[in-house]
Amino acid sequence: MRKKYEPTWLIESIVQLTPEMLKVQGIKAVLADLDNTMIAWNNLDGTKEIHQWLKEMKAAGVSVIVVSNNKTSRVSRAVAPLGVDFVSWSMKPFCRGINVAQRKLRIEKKEMVMVGDQLMTDILAANRSGIRSILVKPIVESDSFITKFNRARERRILKKLAKTDDLTYKKGIR
Ligand SMILES: [Mg+2]
Repeated sequence: MRKKYEPTWLIESIVQLTPEMLKVQGIKAVLADLDNTMIAWNNLDGTKEIHQWLKEMKAAGVSVIVVSNNKTSRVSRAVAPLGVDFVSWSMKPFCRGINVAQRKLRIEKKEMVMVGDQLMTDILAANRSGIRSILVKPIVESDSFITKFNRARERRILKKLAKTDDLTYKKGIR
């Protein structure tokens, strides 16, 4: 039921991903949503944890690229302190951002995973692109109307998915 919204995995936070977990899955690159996945609107510089996580990924040779629907000026401002590459105007739930990221990374689809906090953009885009995905809990509640509207719909979709699938947030992927 509603498989197009179904994430491959669910974890509480992107920082729980380790290079080892990704390696087991054959994943070489993390395509990360920006808002509420990597950073919160009220802390644009990012937390200590996200900086530490990015360092670990870099050291292990895992590529991290931000794939955001936001405009270029906003995304470049946000990723500057994080020091990662990005795709803006990604048009999730369409495949544009993921395709651009794949071209930049020059890797296969099975080597990428999309991580995001929204079923209706991040997870749907990943499923349409044929790549694996990870749903994370949003860092903070957003104040935007459109996000609130989407969240209400998401809760209904999650409820339906939960009838057939285990949708509890795990500590990692496997
Ligand atoms: Mg988001």
